[in-house]
Formats: sequence, C-alpha cells, structure tokens
Amino acid sequence: MKKKILVIHTGGTISMMEDPTGSVIPGSENPLVAQTSQLESMAELYVIEPFHLPSPHVTPREMMELKLIIENEYSSHGVEGVVITHGTDTLEETAYFLDLTVKAPIPIVVTGAMRSSNEIGADGLYNLMSSIRVASSEDAIDKGVLVVLNDEIHTAKNVTKTHTSNVSTFQSPQYGPIGIVTKRGVVFHHSPTYKECYNINGISNKVSLIKAYAGLDSSLFHAIKELDYDGVVVEALGQGNLPPASVEGIKALIEKNIPVVLVSRCFNGIAQDIYGYEGGGKDLRDHGVIFSNGLNGQKARLKLLIALSHTKDIEEIRDIFTH
Ligand code: ASP
Repeated sequence: MKKKILVIHTGGTISMMEDPTGSVIPGSENPLVAQTSQLESMAELYVIEPFHLPSPHVTPREMMELKLIIENEYSSHGVEGVVITHGTDTLEETAYFLDLTVKAPIPIVVTGAMRSSNEIGADGLYNLMSSIRVASSEDAIDKGVLVVLNDEIHTAKNVTKTHTSNVSTFQSPQYGPIGIVTKRGVVFHHSPTYKECYNINGISNKVSLIKAYAGLDSSLFHAIKELDYDGVVVEALGQGNLPPASVEGIKALIEKNIPVVLVSRCFNGIAQDIYGYEGGGKDLRDHGVIFSNGLNGQKARLKLLIALSHTKDIEEIRDIFTH
C-alpha cells in the first residue's frame, strides 16, 4: 500500500533554472511541480508550495510556518511522511529547527540540489526521489528530521554544508551519515541516541553569532548588549578558548542575564572547559559561559533562539545545551 507523503516545495536551486547567461534564477513555474507525475508510482503524493524562496531569504518565520503546516497536515489529513525541498545554503538550519520543534511521529526529510533543473547532471529530481523513498520507509520513523542528498541519510543535528558547489556537499563531521539509499532500498546503520522537542508558539528573540579570531576584543559584545540582543553564540577557538581582551565584554553580557553559548570554530570535536588561563574554556565556564555539546555555530544559534522561546532561566538553558 502506497504511503501518503506530503511534499513541501520551498524554493532553492532544486527549483531553479540556468538562463543562457549562466545565472541560476527562479522561474515563474517550479519545474519540480511538473515532474511530480514521474514520482507518483512511489507514494500517494500531496504537493504544496507555501513559499518560493532562495534559502538565504529563509528566516525562522518560514521555519515556524513549516512546523505548523507539518503538524496540521499530520493531525488533520493523516500524512505518513514529509519531504521538504529547500535551498541548500540554509537547509541544515531549517532541518534542525524542525528537528527541535515538530510534534508529529512521522519521518520528515529535507532535501535540495546543487545543480538547477536544466543543468547537465541536475541532482534535484534524483534527490527528491530518494527522499520520498526514505520518508516512506518504516525504518525512518523515530530518527528525528533527516537530510537526504547524494544517496546519503544524515541527521539534521549533525549535517552541514561543506562545499560551495560539489554534489556531495552535505556531510556529518565526526559522525558520518546514519544510512544510505541504494537502488534496492533504504538502509539505516545508526540511530540517534537522544530526541528532544520544545514547545514554542513563535520566535521573537534576537540571538547573534560571532566568530572568534586572533585579537578579538570586547567591542562587539558591548555592541550586542547595547542593541538589546537576548543571547549570543560564540564560535570559539580550538577546544573552546577566547582571546583575553574579549572576556570583559562577555562578562558584561552575562551580568545582564544574556546567555553566552560557546561552540568551537573547528570543524570536528566539542568545545569544552579544558584550559585554565585567562580566556581559556575553564575560565569562561567560571564566568558563566554555556558550553554546547558539539553543535556548529548556526545550529547552536537556532537552539538558543528556541530555548529562549521556551525559558529565560539560564540554568535551564545550560541544561538544554548538554544534549
Ligand atoms: N543559493 C541556493 C539556495 O540556497 C543554493 C542551493 O539551493 O543549492 O537557495
């Protein structure tokens, strides 16, 4: 029996075309909608297009819209799986937002493409087909939101875009994919160990993301305080350290009860409180900085936005970042 799969097209290269000058642009019609008939043997497809945006135009407002659509389509129409097509630039952020917030026990798969629909070697239709297969698989239930491209299945939590143009751009540093898509089937070889879901009704807070560099001082942190941000994520150096000149600005934020979350700017590994010198991870923790458990900067920022919609209690936020 074919599964009832909701396909949500949101825009991105997967739905764009290359013009004769070589620019990739959205057209008046989404080519994926016309191609849906080729996929109808795989599932009972129900296609919607709530917005059509390049993914650098996507904000938490659109992510929230997708969350509400999925929950409503699950409870009112009994959809059994969801596939979202999305631009690849911010795909991991939308996927992780949905992972942290959607209440619906069905597979949710996010996919995209690196080549637009009329380019040689276009990967969009193929990735959409693989994603429908994953969203229809019983084994995809309870795995959290998944990202499927290039025959690989990644968790929303670990996946990141690693290359500007290569079709194998989506990788899960440190952990790898949790499954693969083959010609014969969908094979999972790992399962996520922890599932979290937060109740939110909207996103209204402001959270900024700062990347540390040699010589970073406190001025940006003072500016963040003056601009009334509700939180900040810092991509720290190495194992979780910052230049000493930045510490005073960070302390000023924490004194104002503004959470400061630390991740590492390193591609692999987890930021931790190891070094005891001024600006070292241990020193930062003693000042009240929150350590994130291996997320990258953009995902820690989204998690902090969601955490702040859920609670203002710094210790509760610290606890949320232990997972
Ligand atoms: N710039 C495009 C976007 O994110 C890239 C893509 O879709 O691959 O919308």
